[in-house]
Amino acid sequence: MAHFLIIGAGMGGLATAHALLRGGHSVLVYEAAPELREVGAGLVLGANAMRALQQLGLHDAVRARGTAVTKVNLLDQRGRLLQAADTTGFTQKLGFDNVGIHRATLQQVLLRQLPAGTLVLGKPFGRFEETPTGIEAHFADGTTAEADFLIGSDGLRSRVRRQLLPAAQPRYAGYTCWRAVVDGSELGLPAGESSEVWGAHGRRFGYVPVGEGRVYWFACLNSAAPDNPAFRAFRVADLQREFAAFPVPVSGLLRLTRDAQLLWNDIQDLKPLRHLAYGRVLLLGDAGHATTPNLGQGAGMAIEDAAELAACLVPTADVAAFRRFEQRRLPRTTRIVRTSWNLGRVAQLENPFLTSVRNAAMRLLPAFVSRSQMAWLYKVRQ
Ligand SMILES: Cc1cc2nc3c(=O)[nH]c(=O)nc-3n(C[C@H](O)[C@H](O)[C@H](O)COP(=O)(O)OP(=O)(O)OC[C@H]3O[C@@H](n4cnc5c(N)ncnc54)[C@H](O)[C@@H]3O)c2cc1C
Repeated sequence: MAHFLIIGAGMGGLATAHALLRGGHSVLVYEAAPELREVGAGLVLGANAMRALQQLGLHDAVRARGTAVTKVNLLDQRGRLLQAADTTGFTQKLGFDNVGIHRATLQQVLLRQLPAGTLVLGKPFGRFEETPTGIEAHFADGTTAEADFLIGSDGLRSRVRRQLLPAAQPRYAGYTCWRAVVDGSELGLPAGESSEVWGAHGRRFGYVPVGEGRVYWFACLNSAAPDNPAFRAFRVADLQREFAAFPVPVSGLLRLTRDAQLLWNDIQDLKPLRHLAYGRVLLLGDAGHATTPNLGQGAGMAIEDAAELAACLVPTADVAAFRRFEQRRLPRTTRIVRTSWNLGRVAQLENPFLTSVRNAAMRLLPAFVSRSQMAWLYKVRQ
């Protein structure tokens, strides 16, 4: 049995705490925020992530709070279908659904199932030191904690990663995104269907049911530079203007949104790293392989990391187990990051000619291509 310090109580940190406790290890999770508030919007957990949750004994609790997503539609700005994927065949083969869920709900479910005292809030991590026998973490309040191993699951701007690799900074993808979760019951959207509209001039709008009548939507616009002051000032009325030509139910979803519900983020990722394991320190989740959200796999990868780490730590928790984790995870997370980055570039095309070529290509894309992509994403044999 080993003692682990986990930095960050996002999806990755909390799922990893479960994984390690199930393996008989002792764990403390240190989170910078003084409380875990209802932040974030919606998420889709692919069937692969649901399978990883099953391995952690968390599947049923999460599944009960989300809703199955069985169809994924891609439309053009006039509402014409470019592609429709029915994921039922895959999910039945795998035995797990794709699930839409509110991020805050998922975080609460993961948190509630942890033993009291596992999470320490209001404890920003500062730096670590490797000692002859373990690791010492230093916190912003001047306190320290010792353990055998340290897991950096402190997100895209990870401080653990910054200490190890100061040059590995987030990479801006060239577009910016607003999100919200609204009560969409009055819109009568088909159950289990998520849709994405690829419009003209780099405009994109998508929506997913997340359970209990709620719908998560996102809207993306290109922006040459991040942190654009004009976009910072955007309100719902501005999005209504930008997306006025988009098909139903875009206007309905925006009408149901209050300004205070809007979340705004520039889309960023992390150029794939060469390593995740650094002696007694491991990078996990967004800290090690943040991806753009185009494949809806960021949280899923963090949860898969947790399940894979548990497997790597059997029979012995040592630095070799971290290296095994790196070997098993890096090829998959690197491919996700690269595929998602490229998909984002295609989805955000500005040039009208290229946009029409893209749409024609999407319409003609043979079904086996999207099937093989899904099989790989969900890790299903075809
Ligand atoms: C627009 C958008 C849409 C997305 N859609 C999806 C989707 O559909 N499906 C999906 O699977 N993923 C999606 N994602 C990605 C997903 O949200 C992330 O991949 C996931 O949250 C990563 O989890 P994590 O635990 O690694 O990091 P985070 O969730 O970022 O958690 C990191 C935690 O570390 C804490 N922390 C930071 N610094 C410190 C410090 N110094 N000391 C202590 N604690 C610290 C933070 O407060 C935070 O709680 C989306 C992301 C975006 C931006």
